[in-house]
Amino acid sequence: MAAPELLSGWGRTSPTLATVHRPDDLEQIVSQVTAPSPRGVIARGLGRSYGDAAQNAGGDVLSCSKLDRVLAIDVEKGTVTVESGVSLDTLLRVLLPLGWFPMVIPGTSYVTVGGAIASDIHGKFRHGSFADYVDRMRIVTPARGAYMLEPEADANGFWATSGGMGLTGVVTEATLKLQSVETSRIVCDTERTNDVDDCMERMLERDHEYRYSVAWIDCLASGGHLGRAVLTRGNHATFDELPVSDRSTAREYVPRTLLAAPPWIPNGLLNPVTVRAFNELWFRRAPRTTHRVVEGIKPFFFPLDSVRDWNRIYGPRGFVQYQFVVPFGSEQVVRTALERFSAARVPTFLAVLKRFEHDSRSLIGFPMSGWTLALDIPASPRLAPLLDGLDELVVEAGGRVYLTKDSRLRPELLAAMYPRLDEWRSTRAALDPDNLLRSDMDRRLDLSGAGRRGS
Ligand SMILES: Cc1cc2nc3c(=O)[nH]c(=O)nc-3n(C[C@H](O)[C@H](O)[C@H](O)COP(=O)(O)OP(=O)(O)OC[C@H]3O[C@@H](n4cnc5c(N)ncnc54)[C@H](O)[C@@H]3O)c2cc1C
Repeated sequence: MAAPELLSGWGRTSPTLATVHRPDDLEQIVSQVTAPSPRGVIARGLGRSYGDAAQNAGGDVLSCSKLDRVLAIDVEKGTVTVESGVSLDTLLRVLLPLGWFPMVIPGTSYVTVGGAIASDIHGKFRHGSFADYVDRMRIVTPARGAYMLEPEADANGFWATSGGMGLTGVVTEATLKLQSVETSRIVCDTERTNDVDDCMERMLERDHEYRYSVAWIDCLASGGHLGRAVLTRGNHATFDELPVSDRSTAREYVPRTLLAAPPWIPNGLLNPVTVRAFNELWFRRAPRTTHRVVEGIKPFFFPLDSVRDWNRIYGPRGFVQYQFVVPFGSEQVVRTALERFSAARVPTFLAVLKRFEHDSRSLIGFPMSGWTLALDIPASPRLAPLLDGLDELVVEAGGRVYLTKDSRLRPELLAAMYPRLDEWRSTRAALDPDNLLRSDMDRRLDLSGAGRRGS
């Protein structure tokens, strides 16, 4: 029997011990999902969810690290079939030289396809969520074992699994639709905005000209500069848009990690003074405006991936990512959140503001048409009242917080934030009637409702 391993999410806030299995064939997965140890089992990808979604204290964790094969690429249809442990980094290395690119890309390349489906992840602005581009997936559930799941044939099962945080089954394989691109570069425009209102106005005015749009906000700015931002938007570069010197490597993708965070950094290194100085420097360094600059995929989409283990800079206490979405018309909630963070002098690096133009089809998916704000905050006891207060505003506005980033939400707010929760629970219960799929997040929030039923 394998020795228990200590697992945490990317925020490193609440590590717990579990027995980790690393199966490499379907038969093993079926037996681990249908007959786990008494505390149940949960799938794990690359552990980039911030909280406790891919942990299972005292139980089993099924790591997808050996499910790492690209199985087929259909260049006629523009689809790729992969095992669920394949990372987006691997996908990009394989697909970009062939002129293909995933439809939805998050802020790090170190997530697996299984993790991307289970959180129904979103990208920068347009084109929906990850699962909108999943043609079909193979799933293993306690009730039915292994089978193929397609949105047309079983919409409920499909949309309960997409965004279902691993609690409906283990995804082992998926076929994804792709977009074709001429190059591995982005043509991007950058502008500084005076404050958050100016930023939102500019996004509303001209986002439609771009495929990708994101604003990096200085949360420590206050007064007339509250929410000042650097707005970066871009489109895939065509071959003709590349400088001549780049054309011989038009579709090359060979990103490197440049730095590694040291293994131990004291709590308190990030304080309002050091973070304010960083934010100031960063804002001043950004050009007032740039137009049509050609950038690589990595600096544009994954700036933090250049520093290995950057999550360690928050020290042993770890950090929380707070991400919420509110519908259009609730801009005041974004403003109030920034006011409260700035007034509380919470030492937070840049926050990210994006717009969604879609609602996730997942029964408990996160995206809804509106504004989403995400920020990383060092863990500290004084955070609870601040974030609890913001949760209330988010709920009142009809918004929600993002489960895959969460480590502290109060369970009583879940149903208000996720109005289709009961529908999801009953679909889930049919796939896992004995509640064998369990995670620390599930126990904390009673997401599955298994706690109320006494399991
Ligand atoms: C720097 C950074 C930037 C990010 N940017 C974005 C962003 O822009 N947009 C966004 O939406 N998210 C973003 N995320 C969050 C990330 O995309 C999600 O948390 C994603 O689910 C992580 O994938 P993972 O493979 O690491 O999964 P894990 O963190 O290991 O697991 C996450 C969830 O997926 C489940 N799961 C994993 N594999 C499977 C499987 N094979 N079958 C069933 N369930 C499974 C787990 O049980 C768990 O509930 C970001 C995270 C980081 C660290």
